[in-house]
Amino acid sequence: MILGVHISGVSKLSESLKLAHELGCNTMQIFARNPQRWRADFLHPDELEEFRLEQAKFKIDPISIHISYLINLASPDSRLYRASIEAYIEDILEAHVLGADYIVTHMGSHKDTSEEAGIRRLVEALNSIIDKTSGTKVGILLENTSGSGSWLGYKFGHHKKILAGIKDKSRVGLCLDTAHAYLAGYDISTKIGLDKMLDEMDKAAGLNRLKLIHLNDARGELGSHHDRHDHIGKGSIGLEGMKRIINHPKLKDKPFILETPKDSPNSDKINLGIVRKLSKG
Ligand code: ZN
Ligand code: MN
Ligand code: MN
Repeated sequence: MILGVHISGVSKLSESLKLAHELGCNTMQIFARNPQRWRADFLHPDELEEFRLEQAKFKIDPISIHISYLINLASPDSRLYRASIEAYIEDILEAHVLGADYIVTHMGSHKDTSEEAGIRRLVEALNSIIDKTSGTKVGILLENTSGSGSWLGYKFGHHKKILAGIKDKSRVGLCLDTAHAYLAGYDISTKIGLDKMLDEMDKAAGLNRLKLIHLNDARGELGSHHDRHDHIGKGSIGLEGMKRIINHPKLKDKPFILETPKDSPNSDKINLGIVRKLSKG
């Protein structure tokens, strides 16, 4: 299976590849820059070169980059909105020079304006971003959310509306976060619930657009909307539910990235081990 983790806390980018390799991963996700800071620390050419060499050596593929938490592409505040678009374009260009495959994107928060207005701003932002980065193949993956606050993307109807507004959809895909889906109210701990959600995703966006899975167990009740991830098998989706997701014929060949808690130095190793045991092939 294509399995990796979100790697953070390294001083040098190429170090993340080494860490992923040491954990036995063949894919990974990183933040390209400090996710809590606006200014980009642009990468030195030597660092880029080293990153590309190490990626080829360790065969880590695909590579996903998660956008900064400060970016809000649906913001009603025009200054924050413009800054978000600019920072997002910088993130795509950085992903491009790194040779990364995907940018994982939170769909933005409408800040109590309305979902319709938020979706309109997001569509406009994405159209402008796609237009201004037409020279790259970096895929834009829209991640579903748990529906906390006024964040968009907790139901696939949002994805459908957004896709309908995007002029050039060729680089646009989906990232499914299993914890977010459960907390948003999709009971993917059961077979019926999982199939129902996949069916809804397929009708809204087409399952062929699903490029990445954030494999996280959920901490909290179904539909509780708080974004809390749990260790694989220890949360509300549980071992059986996780096993079904990992081995589902429509999901098993997609890249899986763990964003499970890192409360001990061995957490990633333990969670990866459980996933490998649950995976039949
Ligand atoms: Zn995310
Ligand atoms: Mn996620
Ligand atoms: Mn989350």
